[in-house]
Amino acid sequence: MNRSTVVVVGAGPVGMLTALGLAQAGVEVTLVEANAGIVAEPRAMTYHWAVHDGMERLGLLEDMIDEGFKLREMCYRVLSTGEVIRFDIDAVSELTRHPYAVVLGQDQLEGIILRRLAAMSNVRIDWRTRVTGLEQDETGVTVLAERDAEHVRYRAGWVVGADGARSIVRKLSGASFDGMTWPERFVATNVECDLEAHGWDPCNYVVDAKDGAVVAKVTRAGIWRVTFAEDVSLPLDGVEERIHAYYARVLPADMPYRLVLHSAYNMHQRWVDRMRIGRVLLAGDAAHVTNPTNGFGLVSGMLDAQVLIDALAAVIGGTAPPSVLDRYAEERRRVFEQVASPSSVETKRLVFHSDDAERLSQDLARLREIAANRDLLRERFLVGHRLRTPSVVGAA
Ligand SMILES: Cc1cc2nc3c(=O)[nH]c(=O)nc-3n(C[C@H](O)[C@H](O)[C@H](O)COP(=O)(O)OP(=O)(O)OC[C@H]3O[C@@H](n4cnc5c(N)ncnc54)[C@H](O)[C@@H]3O)c2cc1C
Repeated sequence: MNRSTVVVVGAGPVGMLTALGLAQAGVEVTLVEANAGIVAEPRAMTYHWAVHDGMERLGLLEDMIDEGFKLREMCYRVLSTGEVIRFDIDAVSELTRHPYAVVLGQDQLEGIILRRLAAMSNVRIDWRTRVTGLEQDETGVTVLAERDAEHVRYRAGWVVGADGARSIVRKLSGASFDGMTWPERFVATNVECDLEAHGWDPCNYVVDAKDGAVVAKVTRAGIWRVTFAEDVSLPLDGVEERIHAYYARVLPADMPYRLVLHSAYNMHQRWVDRMRIGRVLLAGDAAHVTNPTNGFGLVSGMLDAQVLIDALAAVIGGTAPPSVLDRYAEERRRVFEQVASPSSVETKRLVFHSDDAERLSQDLARLREIAANRDLLRERFLVGHRLRTPSVVGAA
């Protein structure tokens, strides 16, 4: 039996961040991960200004900026007319010391956190270990897992389920995961090219009823992310041909490119009925999933982790009652349901489903008005403020 104060299931970014923050607070943590290491997939890449204060507190922001880059502007690019409407993120400079998004591949972010974890003596990481069972009683939780066909057991006071959208921790704890699955899938591609030389901005929401996309620069070295949507009923077999056909329709015709990586994702709007089940806390995609048009999926998980670290460390340290964990659970679930999810649904509608000409014309008129008015722009970016939850310690 392996004993620690907290077992975190899932070494994705949310699990790693939670483990790091708890360890920095002096808590003994075991991180259990099914994979053998970090997996390079085209997933998150843009981190909203709302997470930067927390990432700075964890000592990660500087490395994120060094390895990635600051994004100071994003734009809506209307495919049919070529119009470009730019939003200057500097509009939030009166609200934050960090008026920019940070761009960095999710695998690079995980690499940065992992290096920090490796330097902590009170964190142990068990790779290639798949959690299969969970039982909780009044004094703690027993976690069952498998590694190399061997059974492994853990005992901890608390378990954090950060094991992603298909979370076994969520299923074993009996939390529901209601919501809907979209009839489209996202095809996310990493492509080496030089779109800036062809007049594209570093971050583009390509607005079009048929060929909507998010096209953004991922690395300073010239890897771009092109994410488009297709009917989920199409066979995955022909996806590579469809990627090249999509590029031919939307990207500059004379631009050389090399397809580096691609992956297809089903998209959902789903969240749990509760993020705390006794001694089990859920965080990140294990607790809520959204279509990624806004880039609010991991951002929501990062903000979960920031609140949870504070609350759980205080409960373990005896300076706050366990009820602060209920506050964590209620507030983070409310924020996802009322802010992150509806805002992501609205952006998806505008970018990918702008087939009502009158509505599109109204939407674009509004975007132009916002772009030209710093106060309206600041208000628009305030959604980031509403994604955050202040510390729940002392509030319970
Ligand atoms: C195309 C695309 C683009 C995106 N872009 C953005 C973006 O720009 N910004 C943003 O904020 N978000 C974005 N997202 C969302 C983001 O990728 C997810 O929200 C993020 O990965 C969630 O992190 P997580 O740690 O909660 O879960 P995951 O990253 O899914 O990690 C879960 C971990 O748990 C492990 N695990 C699962 N089951 C077990 C088990 N039984 N035992 C042990 N380990 C287990 C898994 O192997 C995995 O390592 C995007 C997503 C997609 C698909």
